[in-house]
Amino acid sequence: MVLMQIAEPGASETSPDGPRKVGVGIDLGTTNSLIAHFDGDRLSVLPDEAGAMSLPSVAYYGQAEVIVGDAAVVLAAEHSADTIASAKRFMGKSRDEVSDEGYLEFADEGMAFATTRGPVTPVEVSADILRALASRANLAGFDQLDGVVITVPAYFDDAQRQATRQAAELAGLPVLRLLNEPTAAAVAYGLDSAEEGVVAVYDLGGGTFDISILRLERGVFEVLATGGDSGLGGDDFDRLLADHLTAAAALDNLTIGQRRGVIACARGVKELLSEQISCTVSLDHIVAGTGEVVVDRSTLNGLCGELVNRSLDACRQCIEDAGIEQVDRIILVGGSTRMPLIKEAAAKLFGREPLTHIDPDQVVAMGAARQADLLVGNRGKDDLLLLDVIPLSLGVETYGGLVERLVHRNTTIPVVRAQEFTTARDGQTGLLVHVVQGERERVEDCRSLARFELSGIPPMVAGAARILVTFQVDADGLLEVSAKEESTGETAHVVVKPSFGLADTTIAEMLRAGYENAGTDMQARQLTEARVDAEQLAAGIYAALKVDGDLLDESERGDLLSAVQGLEATADGDDVEAIRSAVEHTGKVSELFAARRMDQSIQQALGGISLEALEQEVGE
Ligand code: AMP
Repeated sequence: MVLMQIAEPGASETSPDGPRKVGVGIDLGTTNSLIAHFDGDRLSVLPDEAGAMSLPSVAYYGQAEVIVGDAAVVLAAEHSADTIASAKRFMGKSRDEVSDEGYLEFADEGMAFATTRGPVTPVEVSADILRALASRANLAGFDQLDGVVITVPAYFDDAQRQATRQAAELAGLPVLRLLNEPTAAAVAYGLDSAEEGVVAVYDLGGGTFDISILRLERGVFEVLATGGDSGLGGDDFDRLLADHLTAAAALDNLTIGQRRGVIACARGVKELLSEQISCTVSLDHIVAGTGEVVVDRSTLNGLCGELVNRSLDACRQCIEDAGIEQVDRIILVGGSTRMPLIKEAAAKLFGREPLTHIDPDQVVAMGAARQADLLVGNRGKDDLLLLDVIPLSLGVETYGGLVERLVHRNTTIPVVRAQEFTTARDGQTGLLVHVVQGERERVEDCRSLARFELSGIPPMVAGAARILVTFQVDADGLLEVSAKEESTGETAHVVVKPSFGLADTTIAEMLRAGYENAGTDMQARQLTEARVDAEQLAAGIYAALKVDGDLLDESERGDLLSAVQGLEATADGDDVEAIRSAVEHTGKVSELFAARRMDQSIQQALGGISLEALEQEVGE
């Protein structure tokens, strides 16, 4: 594949010699958010007045004021309904998709949190967090921001990305680009060195795990594949260690509050064990009279081993998806990668010592800042641009409920793919284009993204119309699908709407189901295709017999009918090969009928002159 430089939409054309413009990078996290700036020399996270680098992604909506960050976290205990945390998890989702979140309160209409201040949407919460971050830029002396790059998880779908853009618009921020989080981390490291080679970004935070494989080549940075496990993170280690502490201290029947206390304590112990090989814990402040427990690093490693192996399995899958043999650099991102166990496991799997010298909590924001600086126009000669990939395949439903994939999973974006389709029935004047996402062969096993209708197709026999369906995924992963009937130029299109959000756990599940069912799916696909062929052949013969049945004598008609009936009976069964040969046999039996019909239609076209007469005439 030839790699090309892509002109970034929105990128400024300012000369690098002009006054330096201000670009900032924002890591809009589920739990914490950060804003960073690159001054051409140094990358730095911009702190608040008190010097705090990270801003808790929490907002309080009281009658008189909106408070974001640490102060909102404090208010959460007393005003839980008015304090919104983890709004990122609800971005771009419909109310139905989050109905299992029992602790949420929704306003009457739509997807919004009910607060004293009135309904507040996840987009509005994110906008308030973004405003709070932007005010840090003012504090740092930047009166005006020329461009902002915001990071999003690699698994974010179109709706979630669109919602993130809306939040930025609402906050009045000039967004140049949304950037995948692992990609941003790689920018913080990879773009500086401008090396060629393959880079793995292993990102293990509190609740999720993401792995990405990137390639730097001839000045272009390309994401080859992404994967991960959205239900794996440091919180799981905390729970396992909390179980161990509870058993070791012989505690039972803990209240919910005490259990929470033990988990918080476990988290502290876990983090301490990244620095030292053993520590002594007292749970006396949680349950009075509890003795001390000694925990060493090897015990923690033993507890976490299985979960770490799960992350390694996802890495192996990603390596396979990327189609690469070896990785040249590994970058560790996320607080949990401070654990020596993780560093060792990643080093062993990839056969390289990981890069860890940029703070794993800040590296994403720093990469975004680097990219923002580039996009506002402060370009240096060594600067590189990024390509990205889509996480799940995109396609359309075809006759028989099968999926035709136009854009495959892990395809680099932006991308445009077009394919011609045709009508299934005679005289069909409309076409319903059903856009689906997923790795399965049948529509019912994939995720429906959108449906739209192309009308105004001139009536023709089945298979004669030519309809060009085009999928266009832009640099932010937003999808536009259009359909065009070639003879009339009639077109219709759809841009996928935010209500089609995707649960963050769903991608992993869909991929797993795709791999597990690949074999049976392919068999089911072949069976459906054979049945569709059989059905169309039988329908065509019946329709022709109705009109021109008298072209055959009784015994010929009997032969044809029995072939068609045999075909229908075979198509009711599950034997693909038998259906295919019945289609072939019936096709052969119908050849005589087809020839007579053709003869008849030529004669009609010639106004009753027989073919022999015509041949004679031409001959003379
Ligand atoms: P993040 O979501 O990237 O902020 O990561 C948060 C997770 O990193 C939590 O589970 C923390 O307990 C974990 N973490 C932070 N620092 C350390 C450390 N020094 N050792 C082990 N885990 C850590």
